[in-house]
Amino acid sequence: MSSHASRVVLVSGAGRGIGRAMADAHADAGAAVAYLDHDPDLARTAAEAARARGVNAVAVSADVADFDAVAAAVAEAAAALGPIDVLVNNAGISPKTGADNRRVDAFAMDPAEWRRVIDVNLTGAFNCTRSVLPGMRDLGRGRVVNISSVAGRTYCDIVAVHYAASKAALVGFTKHLAGELGPFGITVNALAPGRIDTPLMRGTAPEANEAVRAVTPLRRLGSPEEVASVCLFLTSDAAAFVTGQVCDVAGGWLMT
Ligand code: NAP
Repeated sequence: MSSHASRVVLVSGAGRGIGRAMADAHADAGAAVAYLDHDPDLARTAAEAARARGVNAVAVSADVADFDAVAAAVAEAAAALGPIDVLVNNAGISPKTGADNRRVDAFAMDPAEWRRVIDVNLTGAFNCTRSVLPGMRDLGRGRVVNISSVAGRTYCDIVAVHYAASKAALVGFTKHLAGELGPFGITVNALAPGRIDTPLMRGTAPEANEAVRAVTPLRRLGSPEEVASVCLFLTSDAAAFVTGQVCDVAGGWLMT
């Protein structure tokens, strides 16, 4: 039996893209899954598809930047499925500008846009983690996986400074929490995807994605399922002694 069979998983931004693939992978491994998304229709569609496959799944809706909304969504999910012992902090945004969908340059960045990206990508991870931690502590176990990015580990001219800063901060967030929460039986790791074929990535100028493909040793972009399979490993019993790590899923784009 899969080590996920008795797990209760919450994935943020699970309505589509990488989040949907990670939620589906856990569902298909036997876990009960809460699909959290900003967009209630996306969350509902994803959870209904999982239930149609016989999975115990619910949809919950919240803007991860809103602590009270997240706390209410986590409580709703736990009431339906039981206490959450696996959290995947995936919801994220990467605003682009202009007809050619380029990054916003720092000298022209609206401070309100800076704040929104930090609020969603970084504070959103805090809000979700803060909401599930008391339950994990009571259980004496837990897994947290934060979705960072290669852009948080090195310079990437596709994204803007707010996105890079938020994803780099998730690395510090991961390492600190791994140290603080290890004694409670909670592991905390991060994934750093390269270019993954999702609606977010398709919002970037095609030639920018092509430039990444050309310098990626595997000479292709990744799929959401390829990120999901690494996430599934980190939340499995096989990764019980792995914490505080950042794992690139990038086809060799970054090797450090
Ligand atoms: P995506 O296709 O845009 O999907 C993101 C999902 O998150 C959407 O369903 C979106 O819902 C939801 N979301 C956005 N803001 C939210 C908020 N404030 N509260 C709750 N849900 C929210 O993105 P993706 O490519 O799958 O990316 C997923 C994660 O991987 C992100 O953290 C991204 O930074 C990271 N990543 C992606 C790539 C890549 O190449 N695709 C590379 C490295 C890292 P709405 O439609 O309502 O906004």
